[in-house]
Amino acid sequence: MRNPNFELRTESEVLKINLHPDGKTAKSVTYIDDAGTECEQPADIILLCGYGLMNVRMMFLSGIGAPYDPKTGKGVVGRNYCYQTGGGGAQLIFDDKKFNPFVGAGALSTSAHDFNADAFDHSNLDFVGGATIGSGESNGRPITNRPTPPGTPRWGSKWKEATAKTYGRVMGIGGSGSSYPIRGNYLDLDPTYTDRHGRPLLRITFDFPDNDIRMQQWVSKQCEKIARTLNPKILTVGSVRKDWNSVPYGTTHNTGGAVMGGRSDHQRGEQISAELGCFQCVCGRRFGLPAERRPESHRHRGRAGLLGSGGDPRPLYEGAGTVDVDGATGRRAAAGFGSKKGIGSRVTP
Ligand SMILES: Cc1cc2nc3c(=O)[nH]c(=O)nc-3n(C[C@H](O)[C@H](O)[C@H](O)COP(=O)(O)OP(=O)(O)OC[C@H]3O[C@@H](n4cnc5c(N)ncnc54)[C@H](O)[C@@H]3O)c2cc1C
Repeated sequence: MRNPNFELRTESEVLKINLHPDGKTAKSVTYIDDAGTECEQPADIILLCGYGLMNVRMMFLSGIGAPYDPKTGKGVVGRNYCYQTGGGGAQLIFDDKKFNPFVGAGALSTSAHDFNADAFDHSNLDFVGGATIGSGESNGRPITNRPTPPGTPRWGSKWKEATAKTYGRVMGIGGSGSSYPIRGNYLDLDPTYTDRHGRPLLRITFDFPDNDIRMQQWVSKQCEKIARTLNPKILTVGSVRKDWNSVPYGTTHNTGGAVMGGRSDHQRGEQISAELGCFQCVCGRRFGLPAERRPESHRHRGRAGLLGSGGDPRPLYEGAGTVDVDGATGRRAAAGFGSKKGIGSRVTP
């Protein structure tokens, strides 16, 4: 940025990358400035740094690369979209301990990699991948952080009593897990929703792969084992389930969505895990950081270190060890800034 020929143009939005006639190399970007004027900026090098999802959308809008077709399995842009599998873990409520979450900090979190990736023996397990298991008191924000024991009414004096008593006496042990590509999870342009320029938004078609559900359930059991040693008064475990829903916070760690390499066709067909298929590996600051190694301990209602992902905490004392893994339909969401029409996904209460 100190170079004299560097200029930062804020309030500008790139609309398209323009290609040379050969269709293989880029020559310029078309952007719109803060006065609404459309400009063309020639360049020798163009970096896609608009975040993994937006990079894929830009490639679609610019006609770069072969779009992925889930029916045939061909194409590379939009393919191998992955996420991060959280939503599990244990929530511990104590009578005799206070954690002072209002003086928490993200750096207080601790993670163990014993059950991450291939760091453990999978020979008797029915999944690949794994998760970091972590815990930490990162915040006690009074609006987002109001944990209550299972069965507490959602409003009224009983809720007030429970929230006052429980706030500060909760900790979580959670898993941030890997996410693997499957044929039916992909990105494409939304046929309905557009941005303020009338350009299609990105559409995400995703549901948790069965492998990742099995991984997460197993990781949750490990969290539960650790939690039991701490003798909480109330212990609940969470589980990720099918029917991914974009509305409740899950994770902001989207990965994959564009297969990279020297070949532009579908023949680059090997399975690429989230940590390798991530477009951000080249463009973002998150170089080479796998999905399961991105701690996000600053929310989740006191379940520090837990990723939401539609998680379903159920009280152990009600014997809720089972989880629903039925329903294989991918769930869709439209993603894009400046959308006039909002999110295009089904809301599951
Ligand atoms: C609420 C939230 C909490 C998070 N918490 C954590 C956490 O605790 N730990 C963690 O590891 N990660 C966390 N993440 C994820 C992390 O922030 C992202 O993975 C990371 O910022 C991605 O970096 P990036 O440079 O690829 O993209 P970004 O940081 O998104 O930067 C992309 C930039 O490109 C701009 N842009 C996009 N399209 C265009 C266009 N067409 N024209 C011009 N400009 C464009 C955008 O405005 C943006 O400024 C969180 C993310 C969110 C949203």
